[in-house]
Amino acid sequence: LSKAAGDNRVRFFAHALQEAASTRLALRTDLTAALHIAPPEAQQLLLHYQPQVNAQGQLHGVEALVRWQHPRRGLISPGAFIAEAEASGLIIPLGHWVLQEAATTLRRWQSDPAHAAWAQPLTMAVNVSPRQFREPDFVDRVHAILEQLGLNALSLELELTETVVADDLDATLEKMQQLRRYGVRFALDDFGTGYSSLSYLKRLPIDTLKIDRSFVMDIDAPTPAVLGGKRPAVLIEAIIAMAHQLDMQVLAEGVETPAQLAHLKASGCDIFQGYFFSKPLPEAQLQPWAAARM
Ligand code: C2E
Ligand code: MG
Ligand code: MG
Ligand code: MG
Repeated sequence: LSKAAGDNRVRFFAHALQEAASTRLALRTDLTAALHIAPPEAQQLLLHYQPQVNAQGQLHGVEALVRWQHPRRGLISPGAFIAEAEASGLIIPLGHWVLQEAATTLRRWQSDPAHAAWAQPLTMAVNVSPRQFREPDFVDRVHAILEQLGLNALSLELELTETVVADDLDATLEKMQQLRRYGVRFALDDFGTGYSSLSYLKRLPIDTLKIDRSFVMDIDAPTPAVLGGKRPAVLIEAIIAMAHQLDMQVLAEGVETPAQLAHLKASGCDIFQGYFFSKPLPEAQLQPWAAARM
């Protein structure tokens, strides 16, 4: 490499880094603005709801998933802004907005005679980020939302990841128990992708274990013999057996094919979520979908 070429390369990387930094800054500025918009007609953040279905094909619950209708960039998925929101701390107001919006929406469905039949027994699952969960007033905020809406806490399921749990087991346990006393349910999201020890599983009040999509994908993709040739679903079966022993229900994420569903059912999985049933839907599309599943 000549000196000039080397210098060019350094300049190229410095420029790329600078660009990445200014993109992140713009994202932060725009998200801050989106969070401060008051009039509903200018609302940029919205929720989509993905159905969760039981083994009989009935609607069990929905997972609220945030989207951002950006004024110039169009509809942005959480993969493109949650990490930055987490890094900047904006996840705290964002997460609070999501909780409030999801709970308000469920309450509205439940009290509308046109929707009550499917909405009354529905579970609303809401993702909670590690930073949001660690906020000292998290428990009070959740409780205040439930009280203000008169929402039965049993219909709210907070999704935590292994990262939250592994971070500080005693503090996490204490917080979960406080929320549990109100009746709030918990799901462990993306199970199997973290690196934490399994010992926490029997200490925490977890109702639902969500098997990560990567395991479900494996069902259709047998491991070649050179890589060990293990039966692909062997881990899923072990996870389900363990969860049931611990009195948890098991939900499979990312179910896309009939073969995956059949295998998961045969393995005793309780609840299913994925494109095979439906992608996450705006409220106006979820309602007819849910009504048709009654
Ligand atoms: P997650 O909580 O594991 O949510 C499931 C993700 O998998 C969703 O992506 C969903 O659209 C996608 N998915 C569902 N079924 C299928 C399938 O059959 N195939 C495939 N390929 N994908 C499927 P989405 O909505 O883009 O959200 C991505 C992640 O962003 C979520 O993963 C969650 O970690 C985070 N997220 C979303 N909304 C929120 C929120 O309100 N707060 C926080 N803290 N995080 C959120
Ligand atoms: Mg989730
Ligand atoms: Mg997940
Ligand atoms: Mg996942």
